[in-house]
Amino acid sequence: MSQIKTVKDASDIVSVIGSRIELQRAGSSLKANCPFHGEKSPSFFVNEVMQRYKCFGCGESGDVINFLEKYDGMTFAEALQTLADQAGIKLEQFVKSDKDQDREKLLEILDLTRQYYVYLLAEHEAGQVGRDYLKQRGTNSESIKLFQLGYSLDKWDGLVNYLHKKKKYSLDLIERAGLIIGKGGRYYDRFRGRLMFPLKNHRGQVVGFSGRVLVKDVKEAKYINSPETELYHKSEMLFGFSELYQDIRKTKEVVVCEGEFDVLSSAQAHVNNVVAVKGSVLTEEHVKLISRAAGKVILALDRDSAGIEATKRAITIAKGSGLELRVANLEGVSGDSSELKDPDDIARSDPKAWREAVKSSVSVYEFLLQVAIKKFDPESPEGKREIIDDLANVFSQIHHSVEKDFYVKKLAAILGVKKELVEDDLKKTILAKKKGVVRRDVAPPPEEYPGYTETKPKKVSTLEKIEKYLLFLLLNLKIQQLKDKALEIVNFTFSVNEINLFLRIVVDSKKVSLKDIMADLPDDIKVNISDIYLNPKYLKHIEDLNVAEEWDTILKRYKKEMVKSEIKKITKELDELAKKNKVSDEDEMKQLELLQKIVELKRK
Ligand code: ATP
Ligand code: MN
Repeated sequence: MSQIKTVKDASDIVSVIGSRIELQRAGSSLKANCPFHGEKSPSFFVNEVMQRYKCFGCGESGDVINFLEKYDGMTFAEALQTLADQAGIKLEQFVKSDKDQDREKLLEILDLTRQYYVYLLAEHEAGQVGRDYLKQRGTNSESIKLFQLGYSLDKWDGLVNYLHKKKKYSLDLIERAGLIIGKGGRYYDRFRGRLMFPLKNHRGQVVGFSGRVLVKDVKEAKYINSPETELYHKSEMLFGFSELYQDIRKTKEVVVCEGEFDVLSSAQAHVNNVVAVKGSVLTEEHVKLISRAAGKVILALDRDSAGIEATKRAITIAKGSGLELRVANLEGVSGDSSELKDPDDIARSDPKAWREAVKSSVSVYEFLLQVAIKKFDPESPEGKREIIDDLANVFSQIHHSVEKDFYVKKLAAILGVKKELVEDDLKKTILAKKKGVVRRDVAPPPEEYPGYTETKPKKVSTLEKIEKYLLFLLLNLKIQQLKDKALEIVNFTFSVNEINLFLRIVVDSKKVSLKDIMADLPDDIKVNISDIYLNPKYLKHIEDLNVAEEWDTILKRYKKEMVKSEIKKITKELDELAKKNKVSDEDEMKQLELLQKIVELKRK
């Protein structure tokens, strides 16, 4: 037996997935909101007998190893190793692919770099500038430790020397890790003289860095980040997510800020459920990641026009994910209101005010409503029009009618007009925007978004449907009965070939449980059989069913349908023959044969 199978057999998909997402019992399976696409009601099923998962919304499916690859971003080798470790199995001769080996090396390099930067900040003489800077910014030692802050030497070859000359990693790999830059055959450090933030994926592995300058008036950018690499993807990066995961999971809420220091200072003010999108926008990848741990997002982005645009975009991005969007309430924060302070400033100067701002967050619609009536004059006709224009797309995305009605009424009251008028104008504006009459300044409707896919059901013949349902019933019989019935139909020729193959295996198998039989199946058959077993349409009624009785009924129907389809096929063949100009003796023989067959079939 291969070690892969040994490890799989020793693992349980229900507990592996159950330790990562909350599963609810649903008949013989367990279900959850799909972690691979946004949804509000569960269509993701995990089944113990099949040892497979499947989402009937997005079609994602697989076994325990596939789940770890997809959900945790593990390589095949890592997933296998993780499961082997859990089961206490020692992997013998497992040959890793070149790709997996490279990935491991890159992670090694990045983690070594983290240690190197940490050492420079904590202990090296050159790190004094960094230590001074953090002191002046009020960053405490707990933050430094939790986020593993570091310092990069103000030299061209600090890291090149350390990783290449000393640790013997190839320049090519170090460059692929995004840490050094090659030019004309020479290599130099990407990060120099900067405060270093390790950027980690959700599993806590360092995949990149960002670095902040420490001296004023330098020409370079204030922050530089790792470039896109095999491991670092900007659109997925949520600074703080892995470090503060437990707090996010516990509160089921996450505060989304712009920058690294916002996260550090917020956590120091005891708002620990916080992440940063690092000056970029909230992406679908972010939303997916957040949905795993939280149901509510509290945005604390800049209040400039870019930040407000980002807030609007977030509505579209989060739509369909089930995440509730709110905005931190910075209105009440004391101090000069004309100065747009970021969470870092607030949390440091007035930690209590920051906690309050988060606690008294407002819905994203309320926030945008307030922004619009501040930006435009709600008294003048032009102002009223501009407010409607500004909010049309926002309001059109409110899912619940009751909630929508609330904001429309509120807006109507502010504008001093009837609610129906506002509704009418909102509709017209949306229509005009769709036609492109008005410049589209808000995110396009979700249908146009990448990742938004509608699954088209493909045509299935009646015969195939019956076959599948028949198999579903078979799988739900007690094991001895299952084997007996399988023997009765093993010589049929089903149009779904996997059913034929499966029946053969069942009849020959010495295994005494369906789970064990399934574990031995070749993958392609297993996938097909498990899809039938997990089909929610069938599962819905299984509880109220006498399976054995239903089996008899459906088997009869199958036979009838089978005959019907045979006759249809033969009739078609006869038609073809009739179409021929010259009919040979052979053709005539064939015709006779076919006619005889039909008579026989009809007799059945
Ligand atoms: P700090 O508090 O460190 O002075 P900030 O509050 O001025 O930073 P912003 O300029 O508002 O930060 O930027 C917010 C975040 O955007 C930063 O924390 C950083 O993650 C990212 N960022 C800023 N400038 C750049 C840049 N030039 N390139 C890439 N990312 C950047
Ligand atoms: Mn700042």
